[in-house]
Amino acid sequence: MEDTYRHKGLRQQMVDALRAKGITDERVLEAMNTVPRHFFLDSSLDNLAYKDQPLPILCDQTISQPSTVAFQSQLLEVEPGMKVLEIGTGSGYQTAILCTLGARVYTIERQKALFDRTKPFLLRMNYRAKCYLGDGYKGLTEVDYSPYDRIIITCGAPMIPQPVVDQLKVGGLLVIPVGDELQEMLRLRKTDGEPVIEKFGNFRFVPMLGGKQF
Ligand code: SAH
Repeated sequence: MEDTYRHKGLRQQMVDALRAKGITDERVLEAMNTVPRHFFLDSSLDNLAYKDQPLPILCDQTISQPSTVAFQSQLLEVEPGMKVLEIGTGSGYQTAILCTLGARVYTIERQKALFDRTKPFLLRMNYRAKCYLGDGYKGLTEVDYSPYDRIIITCGAPMIPQPVVDQLKVGGLLVIPVGDELQEMLRLRKTDGEPVIEKFGNFRFVPMLGGKQF
């Protein structure tokens, strides 16, 4: 795997396009300019890696399109050193962006084939996320590092899972696409009382699947 001048040039163009689409967080833009997205894809998709489109990964899943990754990362307002839980590791691309933003990342994936591939890959690439296999609808139950400063869900959830909110710090943020066919991007801020929920338009994600992992 090589990060050539051509890849770097295409990545810069992708970042310019993200800026044009309204991404304003410079740290997010810089992270997107740093992480080689083509490393996270099958080499046959190399030419498409820096276009703003979702692409297939293993197990009929998709790597989210760059503008969605940037948008969710921007909503998450990650500061260096924060403890972040990601649900839906997939290719590990969003994970790598969170690591590049300086977060301490815990990520959970329910498909064993993806987990088996992405965990060693992230390690090889020096992204120090902790990867777990399990059903993220319950949050991270394999080990307990809660409460998290931030939680990001990268698959379409039927509703806001209460066990996930329970693992969020008071004052913390959860970014989650909610809905069946089409999802609405929500950001929940946990408070001492009722959570505050903001809405950020429609997106399309692969569904969050509950039950036993396979
Ligand atoms: N962030 C990923 C997006 C992958 S698509 C990336 O950048 O590539 C969403 C992922 O969520 C898929 O890999 C899917 O298997 C996973 N997923 C779906 N339901 C889940 C659940 N209940 N718990 C954990 N992961 C889940």
